[in-house]
Amino acid sequence: MLAAAVQRLAPSLPVFPAGHVWLAGAGPGDTRHLTLEVLGALAQADAVVYDALVDPAVLRAAPQAATHYVGKRAGEPSTPQADINALIVRLARGGARVLRLKGGDPNVFGRGGEEAQALAGAGIPFRFLPGLTAAFAALATTGIPATLRGTSKAITLATGHGAGDGDDELDWARLAATGQPIVVYMGLARLAAITAALIAGGRAPQTPVALIQSATLPGEKVLITDLAGAAEAAAAARLRTPALVVVGDIVRVRGAWQARLSAVQP
Ligand code: SAH
Repeated sequence: MLAAAVQRLAPSLPVFPAGHVWLAGAGPGDTRHLTLEVLGALAQADAVVYDALVDPAVLRAAPQAATHYVGKRAGEPSTPQADINALIVRLARGGARVLRLKGGDPNVFGRGGEEAQALAGAGIPFRFLPGLTAAFAALATTGIPATLRGTSKAITLATGHGAGDGDDELDWARLAATGQPIVVYMGLARLAAITAALIAGGRAPQTPVALIQSATLPGEKVLITDLAGAAEAAAAARLRTPALVVVGDIVRVRGAWQARLSAVQP
C-alpha cells in the first residue's frame, strides 16, 4: 500500500538533470523524515556526497549511485570544506547528477550556502531541497509546540558552537531579553556558559529547558530541567551529541499532556 502511494506521487517529482548539483536535507536522522523529493533525487543521482548525520540506510534508495563520505570518522578531523566544494564541482563537471546530502536542512547550520557559493562561482547549476531541521523534528517528537499562542510569538534557532570563546560571540543577553524561546544547536559542550549568559541576560533561572539527544533515532533521550540546572543534568545523564537545548515556556506545556503522547511503533 505504501509503495503504491509513493508510486502514485512519484510522477510529479522533478527530473534531476545531468551536471547539476542538488543540495538536499535528509532530515533529523530516521529515514521516515526524508521528503518524497529527496527520495526521488536519491533514485536519480549518479553520485551521493553525504556526511555523518545522514543515516546510512538512506543510501539504499540510491543503489545505482557512487557514494562519497565526507563526514567525520572517529578520531579523525572532518573533511575540509574546500575539499567538499572541489569534489562536488569535479563530479558535476564530469556530467554526474550530484546529490549533496546533509542532516536536517542544508541551510540550517549546514553550510549549504557555502557550497552554493562555490557552485555558483564555478558555473555549476544547483538547487536546494529542503529537509526537516533537527529543531522542529525534536520539538514535535517530544511533544513541545514550536510556537504557542499566548506563550510565544517568535522562536530563535541559534548555534552554541564556540559559545564562551569570545570573538565571534552571539549576544546571548539580547536573545535572553526577548523572553522568546530559543533552540540551541551544537550547544552541549558549552551548556554551562550558554545558560549562565542567558540568566545574566535576565532569563529566570527556573525557565524550563528540554535537552533532546538523538531525536527520532534509537538513542533518543529527553531531559526536562531548567536554566539553572541544565548543565549539571546533562553531565549527570551523560548526554551525547547530537543534541539540542530548548529554552523557554513552550517546554512547560509538555508536562500537561506527556502521558497522552502516542509512542512511535517500530
Ligand atoms: N543541518 C542540520 C544541523 C547541522 S548542525 C539541521 O538542519 O538539523 C549539527 C547539530 O544539529 C547537532 O550538534 C545537534 O545540535 C543538531 N542535531 C542534528 N540532528 C539531531 C538529532 N537527531 N537530535 C538532536 N539534535 C540534532
